[in-house]
Amino acid sequence: MHSAPSVAPAGLSVHPGPPSDRSVDPASPGRVVHEYRTSTADDVRAAVAAAEQAAREWAQTPPLRRATVLTGIADVLERRADEVAALITREEGKPLGAARGEVGKSAEQFRLAAQLAYLVEGSTYATETPGTFAYTLRGPLGVVAAITPWNFPLSLAARKIAPALAAGNAVVFKPSPVTAGVGALLAEIAVEAGLPPAALPVLQGHDTGAMGALLGDVRVRGISFTGSDAVGALVRAQAHGHARLQLELGGRNAAVVCADADLSKAAADVAAGAFGLTGQACTSTDRVLVARVVAAEFTALLAAKVRALTVGPGDRTGVTTGPVATAAQFERLRALKDSAITAGARVVAEAQLLDDRDPDGFWVVPTLFADVPDAHPLIDGEVFGPYCSVVAVDDADEALRIVNSSTHGLVTAVHTRDLAVAHRFAAQAACGIVKINAPTTGNGVAPPFGGWKASSGGAFPEGGRQALDFVTDTKTVYLTHGTHGES
Ligand code: NAD
Repeated sequence: MHSAPSVAPAGLSVHPGPPSDRSVDPASPGRVVHEYRTSTADDVRAAVAAAEQAAREWAQTPPLRRATVLTGIADVLERRADEVAALITREEGKPLGAARGEVGKSAEQFRLAAQLAYLVEGSTYATETPGTFAYTLRGPLGVVAAITPWNFPLSLAARKIAPALAAGNAVVFKPSPVTAGVGALLAEIAVEAGLPPAALPVLQGHDTGAMGALLGDVRVRGISFTGSDAVGALVRAQAHGHARLQLELGGRNAAVVCADADLSKAAADVAAGAFGLTGQACTSTDRVLVARVVAAEFTALLAAKVRALTVGPGDRTGVTTGPVATAAQFERLRALKDSAITAGARVVAEAQLLDDRDPDGFWVVPTLFADVPDAHPLIDGEVFGPYCSVVAVDDADEALRIVNSSTHGLVTAVHTRDLAVAHRFAAQAACGIVKINAPTTGNGVAPPFGGWKASSGGAFPEGGRQALDFVTDTKTVYLTHGTHGES
C-alpha cells in the first residue's frame, strides 16, 4: 500500500485554499471556468517535500502496481472523456472534436507509459579485470517538475507526467494558469486511479517567487518545460546547477510544396497544419514554400480551404476553428496582421466568422497572406495563430536553403511524389521532425518528439521509450566476484 502524506501540502489543487485567480472561457471571457489559489514559494517547498517522500515510496512500488495505476488513469480519462473534453473546449477554446482527440491521445500516452514501467533496464559489461564485471542500474531521478503551456493542456502534460511516473518518479506539475482547471482535473483523475496525491502535486499560477523556489530547489532533479522561448530562457537561467533540463520551445515551421505534388492533398494538409487548432500548435505551419510554376494553382486551392473554415465557439456544430486562447494572443495577432498589411502584404483569403457569437470572445480569423516582406515576423517569426503566408520559390533546393536558414528547427513538411526529394529533406532538413506528404501538425505517442536548434534544449526528446532517458539515472556497478585469475 502507498499512503499519501498525512497532511497534504498547501497549494495542491486537490486541496485548494480560497481562490485568488481564475481561468475564463476564451469564447466568452466574462464566463469564469476555474478558480484557483496561486501557489506561493512556501507551497512549492511543501509540495516538493511531500513529493520527495512520495517518490521514495513510489520508486519501491512494483512495476505491476505502477503500470496498473497508469492504465487506470487512461481508463478514467476515457470514461470521463466527454467531461474532460468539454472542459478543454471551455478553457482553451479548441473545437470539441479536437478536444476529444486530445483526451484520447493522453489516454494512449498513459497506456504506453504502463509498458515503460517494465522497461527501466540496465546492461552488463565485460571489464579488463579478471573476476570483475560491470553492470548498470537504472532508476528514477526522484522529483521531476513538469511545466506546461495551455495549447494542449492535457496531452502535453501527459507526455511529461506519464513516463516520469512509470519510472518511479514523483512529479510536481505546474500547468499554465490559462488552463488551470484542466491541470487540476488531470491530477484529480490520477488520484481517482490510485496514484498517491503527493506523487503528483499541482502548483497553480506562476508567481515569480514560487517559480524561483521551484527551479532553484535542488531536490527537484529534473525540470521538463514546454513553452515560449522567452520563458524557456528564464527556466534555463534560474534552474539550479545540477538540474537536468528538457526544454521544448518555439517552432517556425515551413511546409514545402514541390511542382510534382498532389496539389489538392497538399492544400488540405497545409490548411490543417496552418489553421487547425487556430494555429496554436508549436508544430503549426507558419509559411508555405511553393514551387513558382504551381504557386497560382496551389494558392487558389488553399484559399478555397481557408474560406470554408468557420470560426466560432468550439462547442457549436459546424465550427472548425475556435477562438485564440487568451487576450494577449488576440492583441498580438491583431497587431501582427495590421503590421503585415502596412508592410505591403496581401490578404488572399479569410475564413468566415459565425454571426451568433459573443463579441467579446478572442476571435481571430484564419487568414492566408501573400507578398509578405521577408523580414516581417509573419515570415521569420513564430506565428502561433491562424495565419499562413505563401512564398514562391524556384525549386526544392531553394526551399531547403530557406528551411535551414531558420534559427529554429522543429518540423518541416514536404509535399512531393519524388522519393529522392522526400529523402533529401528527411536527411538534410535541420529540424527534429520531417513530415512527408502530411501536415506539420500531428505526431504519434511512440516516436521521439523534439526540435533542433532554438526549438529545444536538445539532449532529451519526449515521447515513447526514449522518454525514459530524461526521467532516469544510470549508475555503473563494478562487481568483483572471484579471486584474481578467475573469470
Ligand atoms: P509560456 O512560456 O508563456 O508558458 C509556459 C509555462 O511556463 C506556463 O505553465 C507558465 O505559467 C510557465 N511560466 C511562466 N513564467 C515562468 C517562470 N518565470 N518560471 C517558470 N515557469 C514559468 O508559453 P505559453 O504561452 O503557455 O505557450 C505557448 C508557447 O509554447 C509557444 O511559443 C509554443 O511554441 C510553445 N510550445 C512548444 C511546444 C514544443 O513541444 N516545442 C509545444 C507547445 C507549445
